Order: sequence, then C-alpha cells, then structure tokens
Amino acid sequence: MINFFLQLLDLIYKKRCYFCGSTKFNSKMCPRCAEKIDFLPFRVLKYIEKIPVYSAMIYENEIKRLIHGLKYHNQKELAIFQARFMYDYWKNLDVSNQEFVIVPVPLFKKREKKRHYNHMSLVAKEFSKLSGYKIKEDLIFRIKDTKPQYNLSMKARAKNMQNAFIVEKKNYSNEKLLIIDDILTTGSTISEMIKTLNSSEINDITVFVTSCTDFHL
Ligand SMILES: [Zn+2]
Repeated sequence: MINFFLQLLDLIYKKRCYFCGSTKFNSKMCPRCAEKIDFLPFRVLKYIEKIPVYSAMIYENEIKRLIHGLKYHNQKELAIFQARFMYDYWKNLDVSNQEFVIVPVPLFKKREKKRHYNHMSLVAKEFSKLSGYKIKEDLIFRIKDTKPQYNLSMKARAKNMQNAFIVEKKNYSNEKLLIIDDILTTGSTISEMIKTLNSSEINDITVFVTSCTDFHL
C-alpha cells in the first residue's frame, strides 16, 4: 500500500516534458526532444552595424515552442534549457575563450511588470552559471514602449525602435559586452541597441541570439 502511494506521489510530482508530454525522464524537456535540435555552423551569422552576430539555432520546431513557452506561457523553467543550448553552441566558438559580460536585451519596465519577468534575464542568469560571465543590467535601458514588431515592415520596425534605448555610461568599465536575445529577425532591435551604445563610445560588442528566422548558408 505504501508502495502504491509512493508511486502515486511520483506520478503527481514527476515533471512532464513540455514538448512531448512524457514523464519518463522527469524533465521539462526530455532528452528525446532535446536531441531533435540542430545547431547552426559555429561561425558568425552576420554583421549588424559592423558587430558580429552569432545564432545557435534556427527559429523552428522545438526551439520555437521553447521560446514561446518561456516568453508567453510562464514556463520559466525552460530558461535553463534555452541557456544550455546557447552555451553548448557558444563553447565551440573561438571567442568563447574571452571574458564577456552578458547584457540581456532590456524590456520596457511596464511590459516587464505585466509579464512579471524579463525572459532574457532568466536566460542570462542560467548562461552566467554555465559560462562564468557576469551579467550587466544597469548599462542600457528601454525607455520607449515599442509596438510588437512582427507585423511591421522592415522600415517601420527601424522607425519603431528609434530612440528606444538610453545608456548609463557611468556604469560601463570597459568590459566586452555580449548582448543576448532570443530571436533575430530583421535585427532592428539589435541595430538600435548597438547604435545607442556606439553613440556613448561603447564599441566592444558581440551579439549572440538563441535563434534566427532567416538563414542562408
Ligand atoms: Zn519530450
């Protein structure tokens, strides 16, 4: 009887895979689903404002669901998996030998309050544990409540992002910045962030995104 109850407790408290529903591995992402994810080649994806941008994966299938789950469905535990994938990719790059500080793309305060968390801050925390890099969240802030970008044209996106950020230069002490974000589409957010940092003479920047929507070999 006791055994039965233990089994029942196990069943209740076992973590379910967010992707396939299996409880076999007691994990939010089971190894079978994690295995399905492919990395992009270990090199610079593109340059934005002359800054190298790396992307670990293509925004599709499991990784798309993972990002959505963390961002919109309060699945905070998925941040660990997102960071792990990013780090597994990152450690293959030559640049990973250098010391960076992580700068998660900031959210507008009101939006962060509504969502109760900045998903990329959560990923940054986990990525920091894996890489040993420190996190810097007092350098660049979002001061404009930009519209959602997905239904805007490229030109409209750039305009939407204009003057969206401010820099607190006094909090900068010559570190190499590693800006991290979840999805790279046209790059207008990243571009505006870089321009704002550059205008404060902060130029030592690298960008690393979890995934990108547009990839050509
Ligand atoms: Zn699974």
